[in-house]
Amino acid sequence: MRIDIVTLFPDMCDIVLNESIIGRARKSKLVDIRIHNIRDYSDDKHKRVDDYPYGGGKGMVMQAEPIYRCIQNIILYLDLKPFIIYMSPKGQTLTQNKIKEVAIKNHMILICGHYEGVDQRLIDEIVDEEISIGNYVVTGGELPAMILTDAVCRVLPGVLSDQECFKEESHYNGLIEYPHYTRPEVWKNRSVPDVLLSGHHENIKKWRQEQSEIQTRHTMRLNNINLK
Ligand code: SAH
Repeated sequence: MRIDIVTLFPDMCDIVLNESIIGRARKSKLVDIRIHNIRDYSDDKHKRVDDYPYGGGKGMVMQAEPIYRCIQNIILYLDLKPFIIYMSPKGQTLTQNKIKEVAIKNHMILICGHYEGVDQRLIDEIVDEEISIGNYVVTGGELPAMILTDAVCRVLPGVLSDQECFKEESHYNGLIEYPHYTRPEVWKNRSVPDVLLSGHHENIKKWRQEQSEIQTRHTMRLNNINLK
C-alpha cells in the first residue's frame, strides 16, 4: 500500500512514522509512506498557505490551491486515482471496520487541515471521504492522519508477526481482548490468575474467551454503544 500525507508539518509525521512497528514496515517496504509539505506548493513569496475567512470570523482558513497543486503533483504519473481522505471532525468516525475497509485500497492520500480547516471548495473538488478520529477537536490533521496510518499499517500483511496477530485483538471481531499478564507472578500483592500458570491450553482458551466477553460488555456499558 502507498500512503501520501499532505501536511504543513512534515517533520511531525516523519518522526512518528519512522519509529517502532511502522518504521520497520517502511524499511522493509511493506508500506510506502511519503510526506509532502503543502508550503512547497505556495506561489506566495512568503510561502503563505492560509488567509482570512470570507464572511469574517476568527481564525485562518487553508487555501485550496496549494493543497490542490500538491495533490496534482502526487498523482501526475499515476494510472489510477488514489483514494483521497480529508482528516476532519465532521467526517465519519474511525472504527476498526472502517480501518479494514480502507486497508484494501492500493493508494490513499491523507490531507491534514490546520487552523479553522481547509477551503470547502477543495473538499468538494477532490476529496472522496472525510474521516474523524472522534467527537472532539485537535489542533491539526497530523495526529489524526498518524492514527489512521498506524491502524491501517498494522493490519497489512507482514507488518505484525504471527504472534502479534491483530485478528485476536480488541475490536477486530467485535470483541474486546482479554487481559494480559507477564512476569513477575506476584506484583503489589496481586497474583496472575492461576489458570494462566496451569499450562492447560484448553482451560486458558476458555478463560480468555470468557474474559473477553466480560470486557466487551464492560466497554460497551462505558461507551453506551453496541460494539458490533
Ligand atoms: N474549525 C473546524 C476545526 C478545525 S481543527 C471545526 O470546527 O470543524 C483543524 C484541523 O484539525 C482540521 O482541519 C482537521 O484536519 C483536524 N482535526 C481536528 N479534529 C479532528 C478530528 N476529530 N478528526 C480528524 N481531524 C481533525
